[in-house]
Amino acid sequence: MERTESLPAQTRPPGVAATDPGSVLLPGHDVPLGRYTTVRRLLPQRQRRMVGAWCFVDHFGPDDVAERPGMEVPPHPHTGLQTVTWLLDGEIVHRDSLGNVQPIRPGQLNVMTSGHGIAHSERSPADRPPLMHGVQLWVALPDPARSGPADFAHHADLPRWRDGDLDATLLVGELGGERSPAVAHTPLLGAQLELRGDAPATVPLHPDFEYGLLAMSGAAEVAGVPLAPGALLYLGTGRESLRLRATPECRLLLLGGAPFDDPLVMWWNFVGRSHEEVAAARADWTAGSGRFGVVADDAAPPLPAPALPTTRLKARDRHGDLH
Ligand code: MN
Repeated sequence: MERTESLPAQTRPPGVAATDPGSVLLPGHDVPLGRYTTVRRLLPQRQRRMVGAWCFVDHFGPDDVAERPGMEVPPHPHTGLQTVTWLLDGEIVHRDSLGNVQPIRPGQLNVMTSGHGIAHSERSPADRPPLMHGVQLWVALPDPARSGPADFAHHADLPRWRDGDLDATLLVGELGGERSPAVAHTPLLGAQLELRGDAPATVPLHPDFEYGLLAMSGAAEVAGVPLAPGALLYLGTGRESLRLRATPECRLLLLGGAPFDDPLVMWWNFVGRSHEEVAAARADWTAGSGRFGVVADDAAPPLPAPALPTTRLKARDRHGDLH
């Protein structure tokens, strides 16, 4: 599917230190999702695999889905993670094996916790807005939540924190005394930031958290670094605050959290700790095991798992090549 908006070319080679010595701009890459959608994958990257427990960041659209199928991701499994879905435009219907059938629209948040296993599908409804634009993120679950029960929550109304021209919507975690109702299993932050004026704003940070920032739309300057859609600005730990400017149409996504120390094996839709765990999840899905259940109200054939690689899957730590 074609995009309605071309993205600005990255002006820095991958991983080159920006003018702020503690930050690194990491360009994403395009990945097909389902049959009709292409997403910009910003995590994991070779140079940086995680930001806090955030282990997967896809930014999709804005795509014109008026005359095209839109998002069509048939039933598929997950283990060891939460999926966090946030839209700027459009509508997607989530269906899962707990029996939830939930449309999501801009300003609302879906948080699905796989625990030991869940299955879901994500589809654009037949009657839908013409544009689709949003992010889907994964959060790695720690023990014991990663082997616990599955859960799904839809948050129709999220808290906002305003400070001067800065307007923050709390997806996950706490900022400025406002806290999201979304359940997190490690210290975590996800917030949409908007600026109503040209003046710079200051966002308070936790020095113990590491942070990353992406522009979902518009353009910004963050700690002196220009930021546009298509890249993740990794900010590291040790900051008390972040200074930023943004155009009024800019919507930024600030991700943060306590560094997540467990090395992960991420393969297909599974997050585990070893080759054996992931191979067992694949075998359970392929066998139609009750571990994942049956997605409600979606009769399409489930997505088959790809073949495992011929070599053992290796656990990777959060750093990637950047240390
Ligand atoms: Mn999924």
